[in-house]
Parts: sequence; structure tokens; C-alpha cells
Amino acid sequence: MKKILVTGGAGFIGSHLCKRLLDEGNDVICLDNYFTGSKRNIIGLLQSPFFELVRHDITHPYFAEVDEIYNLACPASPIHYQYNPIKTTKTSVMGAINMLGLAKRIKAKVLQASTSEVYGDPKIHPQTEDYWGHVNPVGFRSCYDEGKRCAETLFMDYHNQNRVKIKIVRIFNTYGPNMHPNDGRVVSNFIVQALKNQDITVYGKGDQTRSFQYIDDLIEALIRMMGTSDDFIGPVNLGNPYEFTIHELAELIIKLTGSKSKIIYCALPSDDPVQRQPDITLAKKHLNNWEPKIGIEEGLSKTIVYFKKLLRV
Ligand code: NAD
Ligand code: UDP
Repeated sequence: MKKILVTGGAGFIGSHLCKRLLDEGNDVICLDNYFTGSKRNIIGLLQSPFFELVRHDITHPYFAEVDEIYNLACPASPIHYQYNPIKTTKTSVMGAINMLGLAKRIKAKVLQASTSEVYGDPKIHPQTEDYWGHVNPVGFRSCYDEGKRCAETLFMDYHNQNRVKIKIVRIFNTYGPNMHPNDGRVVSNFIVQALKNQDITVYGKGDQTRSFQYIDDLIEALIRMMGTSDDFIGPVNLGNPYEFTIHELAELIIKLTGSKSKIIYCALPSDDPVQRQPDITLAKKHLNNWEPKIGIEEGLSKTIVYFKKLLRV
């Protein structure tokens, strides 16, 4: 039985990861300050004697004896990470320093949940890990993008300087049950709007693209990444290469929910990336032929079931 710390464990991705790690027979500590996460996401895990919940802010040092650390703590949706941008940078940077310091001291392996946002508004398409990105350092998204970029730097330097065992994954847009209904991300926004027969708010013309990965595919990849040999540290892209426009997403969600909603067009937020698609060649090679298995219609249908229950519609 491994002892595993999951920071941000009460959030969308963290809650699925905690469940999977528990199901596999591990002893799990879930650390969270509940800024965007919720106890509701992990309520089903509380009866397990091998699950511990710790209220803690990762910008402050934390100590526990564990074998592995998944560092997920950080608000991920633009409205949440822009709410207090200084705190967002602190969470990424000081959180990384605290978790790397802990990993160094207790000789644990530590995985960083980085993001496709390190590529900014990419000029290379699809994005490969060797692309350095096109990021505005002084824009509304910078607190998140640059915080995550600095965290990657810290991970690399702790590895090179102190031989800390690290893993860096760059997660592309992921969706599924346990997403916050008001977090402003496109999948949750569109499903909630469709279920309430409200207007679907497409930003800009809706011709910007994204590639959406269902949560179960990501969790499988995270577990495989942690299990790879110590010499494969990443960064590695984790996402679903199937790319389509935000307009197409709106139409698909209207179809799958049978909604009467109409699409309306709103202002495009600044620095909104025009296109995004992961090249997952490296992940396939190192993660035992991993690739996403759940298609967009299947994944959205499961997510719609979750939101129907949550919203009681
Ligand atoms: P989320 O907002 O649902 O979860 C983040 C969790 O971290 C929440 O439970 C929140 O309360 C907690 N948290 C925030 N600040 C904290 C702090 N200072 N101390 C302790 N806990 C704190 O977001 P998510 O979608 O589950 O994302 C998890 C991680 O994956 C994040 O690091 C995010 O940057 C990364 N990621 C997510 C996506 C995605 O599409 N969901 C894409 C790329 C990267
Ligand atoms: N978006 C949209 N309507 C919404 C929410 C988001 O058109 O109600 C767009 C947003 O402008 C972006 C894309 O959907 O182009 C994905 O947005 P999200 O916030 O989910 O993730 P990110 O921009 O970080 O990829």
C-alpha cells in the first residue's frame, strides 16, 4: 500500500484521482483549501479508513510522510484564476516550492499538473512538448500561464540540482462529472445553459478550437505517468487530439440535451487562444500506448447526466 498526497484533491480532477487511487488500494491524503473544490466531490470517499482530508493552503509548507505527491492545487478556470491573480501565481509558485521541498526531504516522487496554457496562443499546431509557447506575460491569463511555467522551471531545477524524482504533465482541456457548475469553463457553461433552456454564450465567432478530453482518460494517463521509470520526467502532453470549434461544441450540446436554447455571440475575452490541439506521440510512446478512449458524444452524455442530477432538471 502506497501513501499518496493529492493537493487540490477536492477539485474536479483531484476528486476523480483520489477515488481511483483509493480503489487501487492506496492510502490517500487529500489536501485542499476549498477555494474552487468542494467536500461534495469527495463525500463518497469519507467512509474509507484509508482516506484523510486535510484543510490546508498549499502556499504554506505542509509535512507528511508519503511515497508520491500529485500536485494539482490551483484554480483552473479563467474566472476563478483571475479572481485573485496574485494568489493564483502564489499557489502555482509557492505551492510548487513547498511540494518540491517536501518531496526532497522525504524522497517522494512528485507529479506536477501543468497545462496546455504554457503554450499560450500557440503558433505551432498541433502543440508538441518541444514548443516553447507564445505567452503574454502581462495579460489577464498571465497569472495562470506564467505561474504554471515557473512551476515547471522549479520542478526541472529541483530535479537537476537535488535529484528530486519529478513528473510533469501538460493537461489539455478536460471535462466530466464534478466540474463546478459556475466555474465558467465552456463545457460546464454550455451544459448548464442548455439544461436550463437559456441562451448558449459563444465568445467571439466560436471559430476558436479546443480539443476536449474526458476525465477518465486523463486519470488513466496520470496513474501511468506516475508509474513510469524515474528517467522519464516529461513534460508530456495529456489530451484528446480530436479538435473542433466552440461553435460545433455548442451545437452538439444542444443536440445531446434536446434543448430549446439559442446560440448568442458575446465578446471574446482577451488573449483567448485561437487553436489548441495536443500532439500525444510522446504520451503514447512512454505511457504504454495510452490514448484517449472516450469520444466526445459519450463523454458529454455522461457529463450531462451528472449536471441533470446536480441541477435537478
Ligand atoms: P479545480 O479548480 O476543480 O481544482 C483545483 C483544486 O485546488 C480545488 O479543489 C481548489 O480548492 C484547490 N486549491 C486551489 N488553490 C489552492 C491552495 N492555495 N491550496 C490548496 N488547495 C487549493 O480544477 P481542476 O480542473 O480539477 O484542475 C486541477 C489541476 O489540473 C490544476 O492544477 C489545473 O491547473 C490543472 N489543469 C486542469 C485542466 C482542466 O481542463 N481541468 C487543464 C490543464 C491543467
Ligand atoms: N467559451 C465560450 N463560452 C463560454 C465559455 C467559454 O465560448 O461560455 C470559449 C472560450 O472563450 C474559449 C473556449 O470556450 O475560447 C474554452 O474556454 P474555457 O474557459 O473552457 O478554457 P480555456 O480557454 O482555458 O481553454
